[in-house]
Amino acid sequence: MGPFEMIEKHGEHDQVVICHDKSVGLKAIIAIHNTSLGPALGGTRMWNYKNEEDAMTDVLRLSKGMTYKASAAGLNLGGGKAVIIGDPKTQKSEGLFRAFGQYINSLNGKYITAEDVGTNERDMEHIYMETPWVTGIPKAFGGSGDPSPYTAHGVLMGIKAAAQEKLGTDTLKGMRIAVQGLGNVGSNLVKYLIEEGCKVIVSDIDQARVKLLHDSYNVEVVSPDQILGVECEIQAPCAMGAIVNDQTIMKFKCKAIAGGANNQLAEARHGDQLRELGILYAPDYVVNAGGLMNVFVELEGYSPDRAFEKTRKVFDNVKRVFEIAKRDNIGTHVAADRLAEERIKTIGLLKQKHPGKTSRSFTTLKEVFNR
Ligand code: NAD
Repeated sequence: MGPFEMIEKHGEHDQVVICHDKSVGLKAIIAIHNTSLGPALGGTRMWNYKNEEDAMTDVLRLSKGMTYKASAAGLNLGGGKAVIIGDPKTQKSEGLFRAFGQYINSLNGKYITAEDVGTNERDMEHIYMETPWVTGIPKAFGGSGDPSPYTAHGVLMGIKAAAQEKLGTDTLKGMRIAVQGLGNVGSNLVKYLIEEGCKVIVSDIDQARVKLLHDSYNVEVVSPDQILGVECEIQAPCAMGAIVNDQTIMKFKCKAIAGGANNQLAEARHGDQLRELGILYAPDYVVNAGGLMNVFVELEGYSPDRAFEKTRKVFDNVKRVFEIAKRDNIGTHVAADRLAEERIKTIGLLKQKHPGKTSRSFTTLKEVFNR
């Protein structure tokens, strides 16, 4: 399928930009899905895609996901994403990222980038040499640094919202919470849960990570094939996607699932199945929006306190999803999309009538850059 056919098939993107510069070997695509709420923000993924069709599919799908995530998070941001086709281990260069930065700059703030799979702070620094429209730049440049403590703090808020909904209290003291994956997000989450007085059960395929956590906190360790079947109040998946699938769904012995991992449901029907089983699902992209909130604060001029304050909002956002699910008698995974769509419609219309001050926030980076 050709690129235009693919864009038409996905149907609803504002703008798709093909970036090409032979001199530095740049082949990239920027997809801007929707800018009703604000500039489209989403990371740049560098990946050795099998073919251009895979790269296009990925960027169209991921940019749409960002629209929903930003909207449900209550941020004045639209959805966008970029992919660079190439091997991040061997094909990176200053020239490549600066050429890509020039393309981003040509969009004049309509698309703002950040790190993603295959890109890092150093790459963002090179992009920043050409454009102010980049977040996740090093702390020394006023950037926000590692987002995972903020993501984890948001996940804690999502867990509290799920506990309140399902168990009638948001006090987590004494609750059993299972955490799959002890990476950046999972390890920060364990720390917060221990501070709350929870009984935490953990697992990771990397034994070094398990040891590190076990040496630091009083946690119960189980093997990777046991963690999803652990008897507990809440499961908090913080590893890979698609962990709710045909093979695992009958294993869960929890009241709710609320974790940081992306794309937890293998398919939408697994969300319906969880509902039938009486397991409350707190939708992943609403629960794990803390990292996005953190980079949003970077756009306004970074402050860690403000970023933590913002991540508290995940509690209300997840509660709102539960309300919509009850109101419309639908699964929470569908309710999350509805929340995002309703906000785009309402606020997007408002902004058309009265542009307001929402664009003001984004001048900060530009001012810093021009100094
Ligand atoms: P990470 O790579 O630092 O950690 C993932 C951990 O999961 C690793 O320690 C890995 O060994 C472990 N793991 C993999 N498969 C496992 C399995 N089957 N059982 C147990 N452990 C397993 O990644 P991260 O940054 O902590 O992100 C975790 C998840 O959260 C990902 O799905 C990511 O997309 C999502 N997420 C992260 C952020 C962020 O701020 N880092 C933001 C939003 C969403």
